[in-house]
Amino acid sequence: MIIKAQKGTKDVLPEEYIQWKNILNKADEIFKYANFKQISTPIFEATELFKRGVGDSTDIVNKEMYTFEKSERSITLRPENTAGVVRAYLEHNMQREIQPVKLWYFGPMFRYERPQAGRQRQFHQLGVEMFGIEDASADADCIYTAVKFFEAVGLKNLSVELNSLGCNSCRNKFREKIKNLIEPVLSELCFDCQKRFSTNPLRILDCKNETCKQIFDEKQILEKISHIELCEECSTHYSQLKSHLDMLNVKYIENPFLVRGLDYYTRTVFEIKSENLGSQNAVCGGGRYDNLVETLGGPKTPAVGWAVGMERLYSLTEKDNVKNIDYFVISDNISEALKLTNEIRNRNKTAEMDYSKRKFTKQIEKASKIADFAVIIGESEIAKHTITIKNLKNFEQTEIDRDIFISSIN
Ligand code: ATP
Ligand code: MG
Repeated sequence: MIIKAQKGTKDVLPEEYIQWKNILNKADEIFKYANFKQISTPIFEATELFKRGVGDSTDIVNKEMYTFEKSERSITLRPENTAGVVRAYLEHNMQREIQPVKLWYFGPMFRYERPQAGRQRQFHQLGVEMFGIEDASADADCIYTAVKFFEAVGLKNLSVELNSLGCNSCRNKFREKIKNLIEPVLSELCFDCQKRFSTNPLRILDCKNETCKQIFDEKQILEKISHIELCEECSTHYSQLKSHLDMLNVKYIENPFLVRGLDYYTRTVFEIKSENLGSQNAVCGGGRYDNLVETLGGPKTPAVGWAVGMERLYSLTEKDNVKNIDYFVISDNISEALKLTNEIRNRNKTAEMDYSKRKFTKQIEKASKIADFAVIIGESEIAKHTITIKNLKNFEQTEIDRDIFISSIN
């Protein structure tokens, strides 16, 4: 029996990987200009890092982590990368470097979720983290970088949803307000919401369960909850963020019920959504996390960041179906073909050969499916030190000197 890939995981096949690399190249360029430097942290970390970092009351920590024991240590495959980047920031004393420290990453993440369209158990995230700046200009700059990146990869019709969750004291008051309004209907809500009521009531606002949504509608719960009352400082921070975004010409929609699934957010939270993604419509999520560095044992350090899901992003990009071979060398002399193919490659062009002595018609038939040009080097060409180059779109061909051909490739 053939062994198949595990449920919720998938192979990234070459055609898709070419597009991933295009996306990553764009990221590399945009992030370089914005002064983000790439970092790579280990795929597994101490379980404690995520328990403390992502938060004990989140779905990620409670239900979704791949955790195992090794040499009596509890290890977890990273479900997200912010906690790992913060750990690295502290471990390498980056708080002593010139701030802001701006980092970006790309790699696989692991969450034990119910697989469905746009939701896998191993998926890839690309993200940025910016440490050391409390001012709302940092939030605006990060959001602008995300928008630029999406534009660069050709995404259209995206909407940026924005909210502020305030500081601990704003949130504590908001939590009480939510609890008071939810309590009378609590017994009718889903099991998860009942649990969230004591552990993380904010997340009730974000429940995707249809029955819960219906109850919220009927009882006008969301209208009554209305929005978080921010303290003066948080309110100023949020207004400044919005005016910076206006200045940068970034369009956004305020969503007072956007709470995000991770515990570490403070003040700014945002998501970038696309209608084309169906029910898993968020392609990017992020926000400010001013307490996380301290929670993980470091000095109080403001920070902001976001992460994009590569699979969802890829599903939104236009797929171009290009032939990826420039020259296909055709010969019945395998050794000559091998030499010429590699001479072309050494001129930085993609070249391939048939690795056979098959009839030229067969070789050309194959070449026309995958290459732009055929380079024919038959017995007579070898004798004359020439090649025949055939355009595989219009089938026009010319014979030229082999050295001139090689030196003309650029
Ligand atoms: P969702 O609400 O869709 O579960 P999330 O809030 O859990 O998203 P984050 O942890 O903020 O997501 O991750 C940021 C991005 O990573 C998401 O916007 C999405 O594109 C992607 N992502 C998250 N979980 C998955 C998954 N299981 N499979 C594929 N992509 C994912
Ligand atoms: Mg999730």
